[in-house]
Order: sequence, then C-alpha cells, then structure tokens
Amino acid sequence: MKDLKLPITIDPYKSAQRRLECDGYFELNGMDRLLGECGNTDGQVEVKVNFDVDEQGLVVISGNGSTTVSLTCQRCNEFYTQALEIEFSFSPVKNEDAAADLPSYYDAIALDENGEVNLRSLVEDELMLAIPLIPKHELKDCKAPADSVWGELPEALDKPNPFDVLKQLK
Ligand SMILES: [Zn+2]
Repeated sequence: MKDLKLPITIDPYKSAQRRLECDGYFELNGMDRLLGECGNTDGQVEVKVNFDVDEQGLVVISGNGSTTVSLTCQRCNEFYTQALEIEFSFSPVKNEDAAADLPSYYDAIALDENGEVNLRSLVEDELMLAIPLIPKHELKDCKAPADSVWGELPEALDKPNPFDVLKQLK
C-alpha cells in the first residue's frame, strides 16, 4: 500500500526540470470509464512516474502502474479478478503537428489549457488498453463446463489423463 496520493494534473515541464520522481497511487474511484468496465468500485492503482528531459530536449513522462479489477468472465459470466499492468512513455505536445513530429517510441499526451497533463486520465487510458479483449478466467478456475470452451484449443492441463482411469481401477 502506497501512501502518496498522486496529483490528478501536473505541469510536465516544471516537473521535468526538477527530474521529479513520484511513487504513489490513484484511487480507482474517480476513474469512471475504467470502472464502467469493471465489477469493483474501489481499490487503488499503484503508479510510479518519472519526469525527465531526454537528449533531444523532449519532456518525457514515463513509468508503470498496476492494479487489480473485477471483470466478467466471457465464458461463465461470473466475476473474476484480473491484474492489470501498464508501462508508459509519453511526451507532452501542444497540438497535432507536434504529436506527428514525436519519435515513435513516445506516445503523445495533450496539454490542457493550464499547460498541465492529466496524469490520472493517462493512467486510466493505459489501464483500459490493458483489459483483455475477451476477459475470462484461467481455464482451471472457470465454472463453465469444459465443452463450452471456444476460440482456443483446450490447454494440455485440462485433458483427462488416461492413467487416472487406471488409478481408479486399483
Ligand atoms: Zn469463467
């Protein structure tokens, strides 16, 4: 559990001048778009974020984050716990032209009218992208009958072991 609550918006230029490093959290409560996809209503996202200026003079916002959310399994319709992990590397831009000029290893993040970036929304967007396309339990934890598996081959672990029958006969 981290105890530093991160600011929702932050000035990336000032922060980069100071080489600011933050290690803290956001409440999931407040990330309405993300919570719209999940079964839980609270929890925290642990986030580490560094502000820096690279050798080209670009301001860089990089870091990582993790949280767990409750998703609906598409196989059995029950909730299950899914860990979400994100890593990001952004550079703030004032307009679309500036975004097009960015090196491809940075994502563009727009500045708001105060010249700040919305760090919480950045993290929320990344978490949304980290949600699996088809959320589902690990096969062994899923309540759906095995014959309802679709879209992938059953994993080797779930194949009945022919030697189990022999054991029962003993
Ligand atoms: Zn399931």
